[in-house]
Amino acid sequence: MKVLIGVAAMLLVLPVAAQDFDGVEIKTTRISGHVWMLEGAGGTLGVSAGEDGIFLIDDQYAPLSPKILAAIATIQKGPVEFVLNTHWHGDHVGGNENMGKAGSLIVAHDNVRARMSTDQFMDFLQKDVPASPKGALPVVTFSETVTFHINGDTLRVVHVPAAHTDGDALVHFARADVIHMGDLYFSGMYPFIDLSSGGTIGGVIAGLEKALALSGAKTRFIAGHGPGSGREGLEGYLKMIRGVRNRVAELKTSGKTLEETVAAKPTADLDEVWGQGWIQGDQFVEFVYRSL
Ligand SMILES: [Zn+2]
Repeated sequence: MKVLIGVAAMLLVLPVAAQDFDGVEIKTTRISGHVWMLEGAGGTLGVSAGEDGIFLIDDQYAPLSPKILAAIATIQKGPVEFVLNTHWHGDHVGGNENMGKAGSLIVAHDNVRARMSTDQFMDFLQKDVPASPKGALPVVTFSETVTFHINGDTLRVVHVPAAHTDGDALVHFARADVIHMGDLYFSGMYPFIDLSSGGTIGGVIAGLEKALALSGAKTRFIAGHGPGSGREGLEGYLKMIRGVRNRVAELKTSGKTLEETVAAKPTADLDEVWGQGWIQGDQFVEFVYRSL
């Protein structure tokens, strides 16, 4: 398994280390009414802009803050009142300190602040992540839900326990009929489940079921990574994840070791479609096996 982890670490760490933020452009897409999606490098951002101000979901990497703020200013002038972090990973909270300095109130689940406040080690990446400075930490935290009443909409922020991490939140824009999924949704690809941050396959499945239960036939889902989708796309993603979970559970129950389970290639027929992103089939199988 060391080999798998080594390859994964190279794939994920090298592009970041070599990342040229100067070349990153922020792409702005209107999803519905007051809701926008911004893509640059790292987790996809969500924006609500309207009469009450600007609400931002996640903030990617610190060097991108000026570009992100410039892109938001093309939607609407004025300060970003709130930043909501969907979880603690650096490609979602990297701009927090800059946003806080610019006057934003940073909001996240209790466990996001807890992890950002202390040194972390990400097992999968074999990477130390030092504690963040005080100015980057969420100043309002919640345990289950928190609701924002702004821009003519009700934004319900719902904690999803032990899923991608132990501090995930999704954001349901009730009136706009949009759900920002954070990294609960890697659309079109196998998910990354951060086991060393408290993520589990059971939590991912329960979280996706919760998102579908909140949604209607026309709901748009913004994915933490990937293009996002409508309801059908999310249902297909859940079906793939459930299928792999069941296959791996069967192998594990029959007494197969992790190495034997990976060698059995339980994702072989799925890899062509789902294995073209960040996470390879063998790696997804390892996440599932280890969290069952
Ligand atoms: Zn993440």
